[in-house]
Amino acid sequence: MKKLANSQPWGGHSTKTTPLKNEQKESIVNLLWTGGFDSTYRLIELSMRDVTIQPVYVVDSNRGSMAREQEAMDTILEKLNDKEGTKATILPIKKIKLEDIPENEEITNAYLLFKKEADMGIQHDWIARLAVDINGLEICIEKALGDHAPIRNSILRHGKLIDTGDGFIVDKEKSSKELNLILGNLKLPIFNKTNLEMLEDIKKWGYEDVISCIWFCHQPINGKPCGLCNPCNTKIDAKLDFMLPSLALKRSKRMRRINKIFGETGKKIYIKFVRKVSGKIWN
Ligand SMILES: [Zn+2]
Repeated sequence: MKKLANSQPWGGHSTKTTPLKNEQKESIVNLLWTGGFDSTYRLIELSMRDVTIQPVYVVDSNRGSMAREQEAMDTILEKLNDKEGTKATILPIKKIKLEDIPENEEITNAYLLFKKEADMGIQHDWIARLAVDINGLEICIEKALGDHAPIRNSILRHGKLIDTGDGFIVDKEKSSKELNLILGNLKLPIFNKTNLEMLEDIKKWGYEDVISCIWFCHQPINGKPCGLCNPCNTKIDAKLDFMLPSLALKRSKRMRRINKIFGETGKKIYIKFVRKVSGKIWN
């Protein structure tokens, strides 16, 4: 384990958000676009620069919400291409099947070590394997508030990041072999931004109409965000409630109240009831 001179390996002094004037049009930015809030924020930010963006989307056929997610992404691209502020050339989405990403035992072993130390999501294994082929791939991990930041904790434990002025990269010499394997080929453009800061930018830029198109709900009701699943409630907690219909906000409020009074079991019964009743009424 490496000892750190600085308790904040990512430094924390740069908040540059202005478009880079000297960037060449030829430079291609490969962005892992999940269709979620963070990577869509980055796509918007890049769209205002004179660059070529290659969005990369990993197709995981086990995820139920995929069709809706892809529909939402097409709408976002249409909207961005119509925006006056768009200077970038956005290439068609490069879609890669999860099962087509080459295996890499060394990376997977490094991931398993990280997972043991802090409960890190499985995507960090395949993202690292994908980045062997797409060096410099951008992944959007935001500055998480609270304790839930496994990747940050792993970075603290294993090394240091360098602030490039437009995102962070691993300091290869000051980081462990494992951290180099997991993040070494990646760029972390929004590592120092909170959800709230990104939201403020979106409002300042006037891109609420674009960000509102993202798909996040795991179990929609009547084709709309439910207000009951985790991603819906994360949005509400992050003050992004304008992205949910009022009915979903009411459900979330009621669910939280029930959870307070009757605990987890009461909450589960309520969710089951709402889904059953909603299905009968609307579907
Ligand atoms: Zn939902």
